[in-house]
Amino acid sequence: MKLKILSFCFFILHNLFSQDILPCGKNIMSNLAISNEPNLKKNLDSLKNQQNSILDKISFKNNYIIPTVIHIIHDGGSSNISNDQIYDAIRIINEDFNKLNDDTIYVNEEFTNIIGDIGVEFKLAQIDEFGNCTKGITRTFSSLTNNAYENVKNLVKWDPSKYLNIWVAQSLAIDAGGYSYFPGSAPNNDANAGIVILASQFGSIGQSYSSNSAARSLTHEIGHYLNLEHTWGSGEQGENSNCFDDDGINDTPNTIGSQSCNLNQISCNSIDNVQNYMDYSTCGYMFTQGQKNRMILALESGNPWQNAPRNNLHTEENLIATGVHTSTEYSECIAIIDFRPEKRISCVGDSVKWENYSYNFDSLLSYEWFFEGGSPNYSNEKNPNIAYFESGEYYVSLTITTPAGSASRTISNSVIIQNNSAILSPNIIDFNSNNFPYSSSNQWLSENNFSNSTWHWNQYGSNSSIGSIRIRSFNFENDDPKKIYSPKFNLENLTSPSYLYYDYAYAKKSDESNDILKIKVSNDCGLNWITRLSKNTDNLTTVNNNYFFSFIPTNNNWEEEKISLTPWIGDSLVQFLFEFSGNEGNYLYIDNVRIGNIDLSVNEFDYSEQKFRVFPNPVNKNSIIQFELNYDSIIQFELFNLIGNSFGKYKNLFQKGNHALKFFDYFSPLSPSIYFLKLNSSNNIHTIKVILN
Ligand SMILES: [Zn+2]
Repeated sequence: MKLKILSFCFFILHNLFSQDILPCGKNIMSNLAISNEPNLKKNLDSLKNQQNSILDKISFKNNYIIPTVIHIIHDGGSSNISNDQIYDAIRIINEDFNKLNDDTIYVNEEFTNIIGDIGVEFKLAQIDEFGNCTKGITRTFSSLTNNAYENVKNLVKWDPSKYLNIWVAQSLAIDAGGYSYFPGSAPNNDANAGIVILASQFGSIGQSYSSNSAARSLTHEIGHYLNLEHTWGSGEQGENSNCFDDDGINDTPNTIGSQSCNLNQISCNSIDNVQNYMDYSTCGYMFTQGQKNRMILALESGNPWQNAPRNNLHTEENLIATGVHTSTEYSECIAIIDFRPEKRISCVGDSVKWENYSYNFDSLLSYEWFFEGGSPNYSNEKNPNIAYFESGEYYVSLTITTPAGSASRTISNSVIIQNNSAILSPNIIDFNSNNFPYSSSNQWLSENNFSNSTWHWNQYGSNSSIGSIRIRSFNFENDDPKKIYSPKFNLENLTSPSYLYYDYAYAKKSDESNDILKIKVSNDCGLNWITRLSKNTDNLTTVNNNYFFSFIPTNNNWEEEKISLTPWIGDSLVQFLFEFSGNEGNYLYIDNVRIGNIDLSVNEFDYSEQKFRVFPNPVNKNSIIQFELNYDSIIQFELFNLIGNSFGKYKNLFQKGNHALKFFDYFSPLSPSIYFLKLNSSNNIHTIKVILN
């Protein structure tokens, strides 16, 4: 929550920026980290003291080598950026940190004498933290690429005392192009040290915006990682007070900062070094000598009780361990295999495209796929298309051979092929049977397996008799929507207006609860889904109170929803997708999924009006509610007083036949008065007077 508030403030700030320049997220994320973990401030102070004490004692190395790993967080397609873009980003930082960039010739003559040649080289690791051969690049499929911050570090992270970790994502949770932390100040006692950066701000080719600001973002963030402050100091760019806030470096003039490239800019009584990488200008071409000294001090300091001491990165021992020592020879690696179908759930006769996200090799000898149930069941292509002609759940194997050897992976239940049967509508699924997810003609499907951490059948809450499906976001590990697919319905017998009806009950766990339910409809076996409903926490809630413990709805906690099916009337294969995502929520229950048309269903759900009565009336403790049903029906009773205030309701699925409910089992305690008992079936309402003396 705190993060959201901060990022909102930052969003307002960001509106001041031009389209081309994205702000750096260092300040916002560092402030957040220190507020959550006050000890990080002590780390910063300790390192400062240490650096002062070694200032005159150390001899700088000519060349510091930093083992580096790039973690690509992607969700397929272009978000899985190319190796070429990664190599380009590495090229740029190596030029910038060794004064090899061509554009130093454009540096304002005021500053040409103090351009810093840092002497730091970034090398992609060749040995991972488990001793395996690596190309220094990992690729992780996750929707977090669209909402990245510290969360992506839980997906993949290499020992930060041995590697510089750089995570590349499509979109950040904060409004920034990238961010990093000063040494010692990243969350988890600096275990989260490293850089999170947008693919659009990474390198100068591929998905990069390619502008100078974009291509130099990584240079800027590594500056922070090596203890450089912005040239304008610790505040935000553009504020006049920055003239009184130094960046701690002697040869960078005080400045309020820049977002353009005015080489004559004077903001604090002297000409500004707008071309410094640690400014926001559009022409970053240099570090200074003073910045070099500060970065080298950072590389020479570190405490063993922190998780990412920078002085461990470049030791001989670590360079050998990570495979970046000059003596290390190039080697080919065994592939790391990852693949998934473009669509996990398809229909008989469909062709499934397989997307291959395998990595960790330079040269390839072969792909060898095996597709259980597929036609063909074998392929040598990188991303094959495979048809399936029989329903079922099938495994897929992929073997990749490189000069280093072969690697294989089998994923069971990789793809689910549905048959073409459909439930003739109108119809109702009441979830009263516990053999969920039911038979092949009434099959509910989940992207993942049904389990208590996603959609599952339960007998705790029901608006029919004993069962419903439910889900709770409290334990969700990621932002991916949790999906449940309905059986397919045949709507050829329906006429307009027809609806998807369902009953639901939902409670918040706390005011932090933040959930979304979406319902989508497809008539082409899931190729295209049209969203028909989207409800957030406040619109979903059917009870007034928050429920800290498991929410189990009572009869009057249920509400009915209906979604028009007019566009799909006459279609023979219509399927519904319930998508739930969020966090910190309590249970959402769904029951009595009905597909129907009120006019058509008159004879489906009916009761004998004449036989609906309360007896004896005036009521006493033995009074019963009597009614007779011609068909199995969902009936709701609700009791009102003369001015329409409700005194409770009760809803259930009743079998065909005669029923007798004890009045006071459902409505009590009541004060003497005249009441009205309303009986609601799906197609009729009937009200009778009830007297209590
Ligand atoms: Zn910055």
